[in-house]
Amino acid sequence: MNYYNSIIDTIGNTPLVKLNKVTKGIRGTVLAKIEYFNPGNSVKDRIAIRMIEDAEARGIIKPGGTIIEGTSGNTGMGLALAAIGKGYKCIFTMADKQSKEKIDILRAVGAEVVVCPTNVAPDDPRSYYSVAKRLNRDIPNSLYPNQYDNLANTAAHYETTGPEIWRDTDGKITHFAAGVGTGGTICGTSKFLKEQNPAIVSIGLDTYGSVFKKYKETGIFDEGEIYPYLTEGIGEDILPKNVDFDLIDQFVKVTDKDAAIMTRRLAREEGLFVGWSCGTAVHGALEWAKDHLTDDDVLVILLPDHGTRYLAKIYNDTWMKDHGFLEDRAFKTARDIIHHKTGGPTDRRSQLTTIGSGVSVSQAIHVLNRYGISQIPVTDDTGHIVGSLTDSAILNKLIEDPTVKDHPVSEVMDKPFKFVGLDNTIDALSSLIDRDNKALLVRDEKEQVHIITQADLLAAMTS
Ligand code: PMP
Repeated sequence: MNYYNSIIDTIGNTPLVKLNKVTKGIRGTVLAKIEYFNPGNSVKDRIAIRMIEDAEARGIIKPGGTIIEGTSGNTGMGLALAAIGKGYKCIFTMADKQSKEKIDILRAVGAEVVVCPTNVAPDDPRSYYSVAKRLNRDIPNSLYPNQYDNLANTAAHYETTGPEIWRDTDGKITHFAAGVGTGGTICGTSKFLKEQNPAIVSIGLDTYGSVFKKYKETGIFDEGEIYPYLTEGIGEDILPKNVDFDLIDQFVKVTDKDAAIMTRRLAREEGLFVGWSCGTAVHGALEWAKDHLTDDDVLVILLPDHGTRYLAKIYNDTWMKDHGFLEDRAFKTARDIIHHKTGGPTDRRSQLTTIGSGVSVSQAIHVLNRYGISQIPVTDDTGHIVGSLTDSAILNKLIEDPTVKDHPVSEVMDKPFKFVGLDNTIDALSSLIDRDNKALLVRDEKEQVHIITQADLLAAMTS
């Protein structure tokens, strides 16, 4: 039998996957290490179990104890899974900018979550760092792993992430890139890799609003650099002990918007449904790679977590629009498509071609051919849309029964095409057009009905 003794044993050994589309124009090989393959769907499973076992070995926590941590969600998930296996309780403090999904997920695995304000200084008693420390003081037999300053975090990556990358690239890795939050990922992994080959270059991705890049370059901890930003999991307003600046060769800063857009591209172009900081890592690493990578180089970028935790944010068009993050193309709406194809509402071409439900199928085919169209709404005697016809559906029915050509359209038609609102974006429209729904209908401001087909979407996207 081939099985694991507990879910904890499935942590690590995540795959390296080559990036093929978003790397256009970049020399060398770019590989992504996909950490959502861990059971808690993030890189943090690795450090959670390592920090708990380290505390057990040092006698800091005993059976029946409580684990308390300030976490952006992923470490909490890792700790919660480990705690279930080991019989501990969990209380997590979290900043209120974090996704609601992250909070719900932690509660789903039995943890208690205390939500704290984001926009207060780290030493403010209300901050999630301070609340975690206070709970740790007040609750007996509790462990505050403190992923920021606990060096078991870096050790986990030194012992697992680094060796896996070295093994899976057959020692050919030349560059390693990862976002920097606690610093554990980049420093533990880089320490191992640099011990194997000191020439390996380590690139840390930072956010605007965080102190890391300036500190690395000038040695100055500049409070003026600190301001609230949206990207979750990376960048800091403190200097965690896990950040060893000697192990990070340079920092690249990435905006919330560039990160969000790249994250969506990873999902659509690479099939990698990953979290926001993955977009940060890929965008920043590739910007740097443009000027530095050569044909023989192998760049590994670590992607920390999964996309589900960001569904209500960067994967939501409305949220993206509200933050001004959508690319211009995605801002196009059904209204633009109609205007694009008809030359405006007064153009004669904006008249919708329909067919009556009583006419014969052969007459319908004639109409489709005359207008050079593949689909048509069907109306009843009063002009109401009661169905739809597509050339492929007619063809299938004729193959089954050639006499169908003399039947009325009402006998062979499919259900009417769906109506959508004028302000639906191209992204939303394209998700509604599929094999069962070949076209969409839109009513304009003058109550006139228009049809939008796949061909119209393509034309609008490429215009
Ligand atoms: N991305 C996400 C989503 C994270 O939760 C974290 C952890 N804070 C990181 C990146 C950064 O990893 P590290 O803490 O190891 O620097």
